[in-house]
Amino acid sequence: MASDVVIVGGGFGGLYAARRLERRLPRHSARILLVTDVNFLLYTPLLPGAAAGSLEPRHVVVPLREELDWTDIRLGRVTGADPDRNEVRVHTVDGRDDTLRYDQLILTPGSVSRELPVPGLDKHALGFKTLADAIALRNRLLLNMEIAESLPDEQVRREYLTVVFVGAGYAGLEGIAELQDYAADVIDRYPRCRVAGTRFVLVEAQDRVMQEIPAQLAEFASRELRGRGMEILTRTMLKEMDERSATLSTGERIPTRMVCWTAGVKPAPVVQNLGLPLNEHGRIEVDATMKVTGRENVWAIGDAAAVPDPAKRRQVASPPTCQHAIRQGRRVAENVAATVRGGSPRPFRYRTLGVFVDMGQHKAVATVLGVRLRGMPAWFAARTYHLMMMPGVARKVRLGLDWGVGLFFGRASAELGQLGHPAALREPDGEQ
Ligand SMILES: Cc1cc2nc3c(=O)[nH]c(=O)nc-3n(C[C@H](O)[C@H](O)[C@H](O)COP(=O)(O)OP(=O)(O)OC[C@H]3O[C@@H](n4cnc5c(N)ncnc54)[C@H](O)[C@@H]3O)c2cc1C
Repeated sequence: MASDVVIVGGGFGGLYAARRLERRLPRHSARILLVTDVNFLLYTPLLPGAAAGSLEPRHVVVPLREELDWTDIRLGRVTGADPDRNEVRVHTVDGRDDTLRYDQLILTPGSVSRELPVPGLDKHALGFKTLADAIALRNRLLLNMEIAESLPDEQVRREYLTVVFVGAGYAGLEGIAELQDYAADVIDRYPRCRVAGTRFVLVEAQDRVMQEIPAQLAEFASRELRGRGMEILTRTMLKEMDERSATLSTGERIPTRMVCWTAGVKPAPVVQNLGLPLNEHGRIEVDATMKVTGRENVWAIGDAAAVPDPAKRRQVASPPTCQHAIRQGRRVAENVAATVRGGSPRPFRYRTLGVFVDMGQHKAVATVLGVRLRGMPAWFAARTYHLMMMPGVARKVRLGLDWGVGLFFGRASAELGQLGHPAALREPDGEQ
């Protein structure tokens, strides 16, 4: 009888698991069902490029239906599970509540921004985790420049031209670097703003930026950004904020109209409702084969799971990166296929081969197979790597074209906040 394999989440872990399962399981032996709340994979390493207008937002996503041949894709939000009855509950896009039965379940719902109880944060800060966040960041920057350009008061104008990012991991560092690069690119079209100048501040609670990469590379990244006039404040936290300012743990109050919160992630909220064991950070507990503790047919990978890190002798959980989620996706598919065929699962093995941090202005830092690269060579290596990793020839070409056009012709400065918010056909007062 055919097995029902259900995958929750269509990001890096989910897509790569489904693709490998399609190759490993004959069609008649399994039904693969992928449940996801959006019908595309968001290629997050390119999100800063979308925020900075160097990439079209549509070009940093991978539509799942274009990459999967016979996986059944169901759009909906998983709300919970009953692992004793082999069931997951789904709230579908058209508002129905469904129950799905599985023989094997792979969980990879990813993560969400980790919010801290900072007064004013939820009301005034922007996030940087989704495509909508990236577009909102770009639009807010442009809108603030438009407002600043029209203001007579120099001090208030500066307020609008000050950008604060809180959290210096991948998202924070690449996000602020690309955004500053973008502002520098378009500011000539705003004469008053050019005279006033912009201010970009990166706030980090730890003693250095980018804990994910070697200290020397992080140091280089900091030097490079400081050289561009950016302020990097380490061992500093955001204490409170309002519409017009951000107050730091040092007591400094920065007048600003734009704060972006990128201070870490936590597992997707659904993991709380799955009836599965969680570690102290809320990630699903799994063994080295990615099988959930105490369950024979439930597997978890990616940001939402605490997969023992092979590079750290399995003493700690793997870091939340797409490189890990992709490899875990492929391995978990092999393990599920083996289990369906009556075989044994194998442990996840992977050592990071390289890291890339793109900082705009043709600069990046990288380690590739132990070799450290900085500046232009690292930037070139980072772009080549992403071109290679982006699935599909057409998508690679679109990326290359976007980058080429940006390189030779600069970037557009249209503020497109109205996208996705069409005006009502008939205005309330009867005007059309
Ligand atoms: C701005 C940014 C830049 C980054 N840059 C890098 C980088 O350069 N290199 C790197 O290695 N990593 C980077 N990362 C981290 C990387 O994106 C994650 O580690 C990776 O996406 C994790 O893969 P995943 O499959 O666990 O989750 P995801 O890829 O996030 O996929 C999870 C999917 O599940 C869906 N989902 C969530 N809840 C539910 C539910 N209840 N029901 C149905 N579907 C659900 C989500 O919508 C999503 O589609 C970056 C992250 C960000 C935010």
